[in-house]
Amino acid sequence: MASYRCPKIKTKLPGPKSKKLIARDERFVSQSYTRAYPAVLSHAHGAYMWDVDGNCYIDFHTGIGVCSTGNCHPKVVEAIKKQAETAVHIPSADFYNEPVGKLAEKLSEIVPGKGRKRTFFSNSGTEAMETGFKLARYNRKRPRTIAFINGFHGRTMGSLSLTCSKETQRKYFAPLVPEVTHVPYAYCYRCPFNLTYPKCDLACVKFIDEEILNKVAPADEVAAIVVEPIQGEGGYVVPPPGYLPRLKALAERYGILLVMDEIQSGMGKTGKMLAMEHWNVTADIVVLAKALASGVPLGACVASKKLMSWEPGAHSTTFGGNPIACAASLATIELIENGLMQNAARMGKYIMRYLEGMMKRYSIIGDIRGKGLMIGIEFVKNRKTKEAAPEMTDQIAYECFRNGLMLLTCGKSVIRFIPPLVISQDTVDQALEIFEKVVKKFQSKKKK
Ligand code: PLP
Repeated sequence: MASYRCPKIKTKLPGPKSKKLIARDERFVSQSYTRAYPAVLSHAHGAYMWDVDGNCYIDFHTGIGVCSTGNCHPKVVEAIKKQAETAVHIPSADFYNEPVGKLAEKLSEIVPGKGRKRTFFSNSGTEAMETGFKLARYNRKRPRTIAFINGFHGRTMGSLSLTCSKETQRKYFAPLVPEVTHVPYAYCYRCPFNLTYPKCDLACVKFIDEEILNKVAPADEVAAIVVEPIQGEGGYVVPPPGYLPRLKALAERYGILLVMDEIQSGMGKTGKMLAMEHWNVTADIVVLAKALASGVPLGACVASKKLMSWEPGAHSTTFGGNPIACAASLATIELIENGLMQNAARMGKYIMRYLEGMMKRYSIIGDIRGKGLMIGIEFVKNRKTKEAAPEMTDQIAYECFRNGLMLLTCGKSVIRFIPPLVISQDTVDQALEIFEKVVKKFQSKKKK
């Protein structure tokens, strides 16, 4: 790793080549993407990324939690190459093929829950979510769905109807799929009920039971509760112990299907293959994407044979389950199972310990939370009032970028760490050094 001499910023940012390419991008590419930094990335390896001007950054975003095995892992690249030389496209919609069956068998094994499971493959997170949404409706034949405030499930119309994380994501797109009711999530740092765990006795679940399923969305009409085990885009919100099991029990009591969105939290990132395993919870329907195939587009919706028994034609796709993506996914899972998941747990603990120390030194950090290598740092203007500090959070992220650490924000005022699972302690140390240097600067600015 040291041979890369990374991170290294050798030009003004943006560098001259980046500037030129960004100008073209602005002319020809939809600007609805939320590009975080003015750098044109050209190549990446392991936990490092380079821009076209030769600047090198530590990758603490993994392309929104996708390149968990590190960019261009040799085993994944080998699997992609081998499959590309065999067959690039066999539509799983119309023709049987081996990679899709092999991967489905593997997912049946790794997704928690008794019995054999079946998978529907797609190309992205939002499509996997659409599948889960439709599958729940198809099975229950009930019109309503419960989703969560600050939840994110994608941007196509069905998934967007469940998404409720930022105004810009929904504004001007209504009418959306009707009868989706959004309820507060267990965001304990900013409890929507102003209560404290565990004294609250999970009032947020009681609220769904006593108020929502009773008065707003009659339980008999609800097909699904759609939830992220750890809210991602909404701010890396980790629910307290007992929350997911209670939600699961509630769903079961009313015959509602629990749909677990593991798109961001899944595939070993949290130190378990799926985040819900931290709470020993199983779900009726599980949706996966992002890190599933180390960057080759792939989404998956996994459910029991009983639920995934819709008739041919009820749901299908041209590209979903592409053989190259399936091969990349099988190689990815093998890597996760053979050391990367353990590294995520170990490095995650190491980072959390360091951040706990930082919390004592810098009052602009209001909260730290996470599991494995899915870590959120919430910044505040004032620790007592917990007033959010969105501008400062953006500035901190930008300053990290200027120093060679690339990361992303989420929620209102949160910086997330999602480094690749291959990351070494040396690289983590480099990243934490940059991060602390920047946080220190903003802390002292505040005092002036
Ligand atoms: N669900 C979750 C939890 C996500 O984090 C995302 C993307 O960030 C999605 C769904 C949508 O995935 P995609 O962008 O691949 O459509």
